[in-house]
Amino acid sequence: SIPAAVTSGLAAAARFGALIKGGAALEQLQQVKHLAFDKTGTLTEGKPEVTVVQPVNGNEHNTLRLAAAVEQGSSHPLATAIINRAKQLDIKISEATDVVVIAGSGVKGVVDGQAVQVTSPKALPDSLQQVDLSKRINALESQGNTVVVVQADQQVQGLIAMADTLRSDALEAVQQLKAMGISSTMLTGDNRRAAAAIAAKLGIDYRAELMPEDKVSAIRELQASGKGAVAMVGDGINDAPALKSAELGIAMGRGSDVALETADAALTHERLPELAGMIWLSQRTAMIVR
Ligand code: ADP
Ligand code: MG
Repeated sequence: SIPAAVTSGLAAAARFGALIKGGAALEQLQQVKHLAFDKTGTLTEGKPEVTVVQPVNGNEHNTLRLAAAVEQGSSHPLATAIINRAKQLDIKISEATDVVVIAGSGVKGVVDGQAVQVTSPKALPDSLQQVDLSKRINALESQGNTVVVVQADQQVQGLIAMADTLRSDALEAVQQLKAMGISSTMLTGDNRRAAAAIAAKLGIDYRAELMPEDKVSAIRELQASGKGAVAMVGDGINDAPALKSAELGIAMGRGSDVALETADAALTHERLPELAGMIWLSQRTAMIVR
């Protein structure tokens, strides 16, 4: 039977917005020595906004119009940013067909008979990698932007740069964890220049340009360091494999259903400092049980 202290520990956690799915998860929490954080939607607000639209072979209007059409098939925060900007500019968004979402890389579909792709620069085929294009992309990324490339019929139409803000309580959260002897690493699918800018603000390690399966390898490496259990915090479909492979998966409360179902715990109010609270509570519960 479940000790009363465990039941009351779970209830206390729920009161401050930490949902812990049972006694086994509470026990794993006590052992956590390392936190791995997803970036977009976890350490950041996850509400990026378009900062620059740079035409390459197309024009600004058409770049946004084609991108917004295929992004209607995606629920990614970048998709929302692109659609919102198109609407702000009163651009008429066409219907896209045959839309396919490629987790960790982008989305593609057919718009007005053209094969349109909106992807991360690293997903560009070699035939489209050009020096002047990568210079432009690097410059935008160095300013902290996430850049996506819009292609139509294998020709680059333009670049869309977006930026997101750090959650106001992210620094407090990593500092509290550090004070408890728990280190933090950011794992992101985003580019290394934007990732470095965010990690520097938090004073934590980071790994960038990761595909969903690379996040799993990064978790395994942290586990292999032998310091203790690893908890992963994330919000997206792309985080689900990593949430599963960590000793403890923690989902953000407004995250995707897949993340919430896979996780062992959730931050229902999305307040990151509650991570330290959860761990503290698990340690206190363990003392009472013993
Ligand atoms: P994170 O780990 O920061 O949450 P993701 O793994 O979700 O990031 O995405 C990684 C990268 O893949 C993004 O930075 C972007 O370049 C690209 N990407 C993902 N989804 C989309 C989309 N719907 N439209 C355009 N690009 C996308
Ligand atoms: Mg995310």
